[in-house]
Amino acid sequence: SMPRRKRILMLMSDTGGGHRASAQALKAALDELYPDKVDVQIVDVFAELSGPFFRSIPEQYNFLMKHPTLWRVTYAGGQFWPTRQLAQRTYMFMNFNRLKEAFLSFEPDMIVSVHPLCQGPPLGVLNRLGIRDRVTFVTVVTDLGGANPTWFHSGVDRCYVPTQHLWDYAKRYKMKDHQLRQYGLPIRRMFWSDAPDSTLLRRRLGLKLNVPVVLVVGGGAGVGSLHKVAVTVARRIEQEEGPYGAQIVVVCGKNEKLREKLLFEEWPIPVKVTGFVSNMSEYMAAANCIITKAGPGTIAESLVRGLPIVLSGYLPGQEYGNVKFVQENGVGNYGKGAREIADLVCSLLGDPDEMAAMSKRAKDLGRPGASYDIAKNVGQLLFERRQETPLREMEESRTMAYSSAN
Ligand code: UDP
Repeated sequence: SMPRRKRILMLMSDTGGGHRASAQALKAALDELYPDKVDVQIVDVFAELSGPFFRSIPEQYNFLMKHPTLWRVTYAGGQFWPTRQLAQRTYMFMNFNRLKEAFLSFEPDMIVSVHPLCQGPPLGVLNRLGIRDRVTFVTVVTDLGGANPTWFHSGVDRCYVPTQHLWDYAKRYKMKDHQLRQYGLPIRRMFWSDAPDSTLLRRRLGLKLNVPVVLVVGGGAGVGSLHKVAVTVARRIEQEEGPYGAQIVVVCGKNEKLREKLLFEEWPIPVKVTGFVSNMSEYMAAANCIITKAGPGTIAESLVRGLPIVLSGYLPGQEYGNVKFVQENGVGNYGKGAREIADLVCSLLGDPDEMAAMSKRAKDLGRPGASYDIAKNVGQLLFERRQETPLREMEESRTMAYSSAN
């Protein structure tokens, strides 16, 4: 008879668009690699599996994103061991039964966490129920240049990190080499293979064919002072390179107010304004450089498409590491305020050689196969039942059990 499909429960939360995007990318890769063999379910642990207070964490996060000072305090609380412990204990106290019911009714063979707050509590529940060794537990880290310590839990079977820097970071938090794998940040399927020719794409997207494209993105929520940035950059391009020195595409994401404001603007150069786009890979492939806040997803995607990156902002704490990551790898720069951003964009446009060199470094750093590689490795854990414990350790524990039995 057909063996039962393996069940994979993916734990994420909509604190920023990136976690859901990564979860969906992994699910797509698993479904493609193991058709009819896996059942992947994605749940928002806070919105769907938690009780009062914790249920609204995604909303609170979106609120905090707009209030940087409050965000800083909250983030610091998460870094600081006592407050972190307190939060985790409170969470467990209030939500133990909900997590337990979810695990017992879905009966996962594996839990995949793609969220920094989904290690300790779910592992604690598995342990307390005495079913930890029946359920493989892996973490997929979806930050790039820095990471909250809660990403790293020594009790996981595997932890996938996207960069060398995060590998080193994981080691500092007591993760072992045999737990770690590095394949890159999982990004959506549309980025897995090369994009069509950029002329074709520009035609399809209604852009000028022979005018460089500057893409402006503010994450899924369309945050940051994108209006000021777009206006300042457009003016500067017109001054320095002329009215056809470049064209701009502003992707406003879900920020409808911003979109309307930009549509009423009089532009000195060609500008296209859009709301949330579902074909980001095409816009990126049609572009010559990108202005974006330091979101890990957007950065990883830009690298795959070989785009030099001008960072326009970052979430304090969480995203600061991404700024360093971009600068240290020579794939872009950070501009503090609209003027500096305009300076950076114009110096790129005025120096095609440097632009090409940056683009090449980006492409080399990009990991289009990350989702696939992680899914393959996850599949090995699921299907090959490879014994990961070193033989010596197994032997030792067996001997110990033997001698204590006598
Ligand atoms: N994105 C998109 N369409 C849009 C705006 C954003 O598909 O109109 C995607 C973007 O390509 C990226 C994700 O939303 O994959 C944003 O993730 P990121 O980690 O950059 O930032 P977050 O929004 O999670 O803070």
